[in-house]
Amino acid sequence: AKSKGRNTSSFYTSIIEETYSRRTTIENGLRVALEQNHFFLVYQPQIHVQSNEIAGVEVLLRYVHPVLGMISPAEFIPLCENNGMIDEVTHWVIKKALEQQNSWTEEGMPRMKMAINISPSTIVNSSFAEVLNKYFKAWNVSSEYIELEITEDVFFEYSSQTLQTLTELEKMGIKLALDDFGSGYSSLRQMKELPLHKIKIDKVFIDHVESDRDRAFLDSILDLTKKLESTVVCEGVESKKQVDYLVSKGDIIAQGYYYSIPLTAWEFKHWYENYKMQ
Ligand code: C2E
Ligand code: CA
Ligand code: CA
Ligand code: CA
Repeated sequence: AKSKGRNTSSFYTSIIEETYSRRTTIENGLRVALEQNHFFLVYQPQIHVQSNEIAGVEVLLRYVHPVLGMISPAEFIPLCENNGMIDEVTHWVIKKALEQQNSWTEEGMPRMKMAINISPSTIVNSSFAEVLNKYFKAWNVSSEYIELEITEDVFFEYSSQTLQTLTELEKMGIKLALDDFGSGYSSLRQMKELPLHKIKIDKVFIDHVESDRDRAFLDSILDLTKKLESTVVCEGVESKKQVDYLVSKGDIIAQGYYYSIPLTAWEFKHWYENYKMQ
């Protein structure tokens, strides 16, 4: 029993050490990633389910660590939020996205609306609107082509500053989307106060449209978003059955593997040309 206990504890110790060193390895890597181009962007189309028109793309960040390989943003974004790098990383994403807009346009594509994920601490930063404005000017892109996705976590830091920044962004003509709706903390009162143009319904509410119970949840969320007069985007749409259901519910935008996985800039251009022909 004694040796078993020792083995168990060393087993856990090694898991902790492994987790710790992976985390440290990633954190150290992040510092060089910006300089050495270990980041790249992928784009996932968003489609109006009834007309099949492209509403825009969501911009998603990718990170290839030189030793660990591809790392999910779900793993490295929280690390950036903790180590103070998130603003810098977000600025990199915005610059790259604007640069890509211009490249696609030069290649004869129509301007694509791009939805960019912004962490709560970045959005509530009082200088964020100013920084964005500077980038729009530098890349000569109109603010109507950029949409910001914020999560319900922004309500944790909700203050008069939050409202002020979001209102300032709205004045600049930037549309705001509430991401992962239904999966976190949100106050309906604050939702009413904030200038939110879009609500993205979390994948979990779309997963089982064939179940009566799950459909009841989805339906009531859709009713609510209609009352708030927000545009609705359903995330994680993977099947025809889900699309058919959404078509019956109105002018909804869907995003998910059913239409396309997130694609590199080059892949997206080809996807677009092929989609247009259909
Ligand atoms: P999110 O904003 O909710 O993004 C949607 C996630 O769902 C993406 O994961 C996307 O690849 C995935 N997805 C899309 N369609 C489907 C589907 O049909 N089925 C399934 N199972 N998954 C689908 P990804 O790219 O791994 O990103 C994870 C999260 O990391 C994002 O969740 C977002 O919160 C964060 N993130 C990604 N890029 C950025 C960024 O540039 N800045 C910030 N702050 N966060 C980012
Ligand atoms: Ca998002
Ligand atoms: Ca989401
Ligand atoms: Ca998410």
